[in-house]
Amino acid sequence: MPQLSDDCFAFGGVLLPIAQAQERIEALYACSAGVETVALPAALGRVLAADVIAPLSLPPLTNSAVDGYAVYFDDLAPAQPTLLPIHGRTAAGEAPAGRVPRGHAWRILTGAVMPEGPDTVLMQEDCTLLPEGVLIRPGIGRGANCRLAGEDIAVGDLALAAGRRLSPPDLGLLAALGQHQVAVRVKLRVALFSTGDEITDPPAPLRPGKVYDANRFMLGALLARIGVVVQDHGILPDDPEGTQSALRAAAAGADLVLTSGGVSTGEADHVRAAIEAIGALTFWRVGIKPGRPVALGELNGTPLLGLPGNPVAALVTFVAIGRPLLDRLAGARHVPPPRFPLRSGFAYRKKPGRREFVGVLVGADGVVQLYPKEGAGMITSLTESDALMELPEDLTTLAPGDTVLCIPMGLLHG
Ligand code: AMP
Ligand code: MG
Repeated sequence: MPQLSDDCFAFGGVLLPIAQAQERIEALYACSAGVETVALPAALGRVLAADVIAPLSLPPLTNSAVDGYAVYFDDLAPAQPTLLPIHGRTAAGEAPAGRVPRGHAWRILTGAVMPEGPDTVLMQEDCTLLPEGVLIRPGIGRGANCRLAGEDIAVGDLALAAGRRLSPPDLGLLAALGQHQVAVRVKLRVALFSTGDEITDPPAPLRPGKVYDANRFMLGALLARIGVVVQDHGILPDDPEGTQSALRAAAAGADLVLTSGGVSTGEADHVRAAIEAIGALTFWRVGIKPGRPVALGELNGTPLLGLPGNPVAALVTFVAIGRPLLDRLAGARHVPPPRFPLRSGFAYRKKPGRREFVGVLVGADGVVQLYPKEGAGMITSLTESDALMELPEDLTTLAPGDTVLCIPMGLLHG
């Protein structure tokens, strides 16, 4: 009897868990990128090629955190105000002053190096300036308002580890350590294809039966964000020979071929067939929803990742499979997007054996609700949801009040 089902996941065959797909990637591939030195402003998003050891301490010398007066803590009376004559002054950028005599204060500005002797700084707001000196109220703690040499990072410490994708604060740290250039991995070249006779590029008019290409622009942007050189190969028609020759040619000039669409089991799905015909297929059925058909293979030694065509599935599989692969090839340490525990405001059922990602809205009370439009083709679930709820393989039912792990949308593809 024929089986009617509205679940496009109802099919036979074993699904490869995401974690195992990631392990296969780790085992099969190594960093294929060389090393180059770039100026610091050009290093954003690039992968650090070697550990950076701090060549100096931060701060280099002990200095004042405030505008005020440097004193010997032991000169202060514990329970009543202390009047100290002011012996001199240091502003930020000036050479460190010599020894301050006991029983004296030293005018000091924020960032100025502490003079020799004093161990404590009073904020000027906590003092009264008199003609004969500065009057200090009791109550300050020893060492207050001093920034100790090396308290941020000490010379010889590991500042940034190889494999890190450089963020704006990373560039700040490198600059603070006196680096004006940095050794990074050469950018990966990724050949990017969309597939499908129905896919149309704007601004061409949209003929009946066609849809505009969402994936190439979304995936191109995801790749650009992580410092990839995107080779835009446009849209592949649903044609087996054309698909094979285009993929073969692209593989010859790229570190990775990335496609979307055409990896399922329909007669117009030619990408997976092409990998099998002219290369080698590693896996194509992964336990992930949306996105079950996601094909990893190789064409003449160049990896090829075939993402599913539905845009939500393309994004989810890019994050779960594409990023680990790209990070591996690029020499980057893969850091999965952070997941935060929130409370479910709804009941939900799912099949075991696959990890499911569902768009949710996060209320001010931290309770999440389903984004009302669910489906692998709902692009607005990506633009309007606050987070993706991640439901693990073994979970089958979710009740209101249960804890769910959620990835904020903005951190999904950073
Ligand atoms: P496929 O896996 O090729 O059968 O595609 C699955 C669904 O995703 C179909 O409805 C396609 O029209 C749609 N799709 C495939 N590629 C794209 C794309 N680049 N942009 C938008 N939708 C796409
Ligand atoms: Mg297609």
